[in-house]
Amino acid sequence: MKSFRKELWFETRNRREYINITPTIAEALRESGIKEGLLLCNAMHITSSVFINDDESGLHNDFEKWLEKLAPEKPYSQYTHNGFEDNADAHLKRTIMGREVVAAVTNGKLDLGPWEQIFYGEFDGKRKKRVLVKIIGE
Ligand code: ZN
Repeated sequence: MKSFRKELWFETRNRREYINITPTIAEALRESGIKEGLLLCNAMHITSSVFINDDESGLHNDFEKWLEKLAPEKPYSQYTHNGFEDNADAHLKRTIMGREVVAAVTNGKLDLGPWEQIFYGEFDGKRKKRVLVKIIGE
């Protein structure tokens, strides 16, 4: 069995952003040389997510509105966590949107559904943060 590990770095301009990382993940898969197996991709920070959904800007706008209803960024004082930080909302948003995705690798390609794309969801950006890609198989 082969195994491959790679870290991807992101530094978003905004506090919240969604980045389609499918091409970057596909590149890591090519680099690994693995043809059959499983690919794990997870955020290495507790205020960002990796998730699968549609690459459609209206939907991303809906995510933003929905998450702001569930866990509004402001006022910062509404959260107990915000004694020394201002990112309680980002922790909550990350919990809803998930930590990781697992995708099947078949014939050297990501075996995704027709509209499935892999996203990095940033909820407390403007600083360098990492995503882990781990691929196992042969
Ligand atoms: Zn925090």
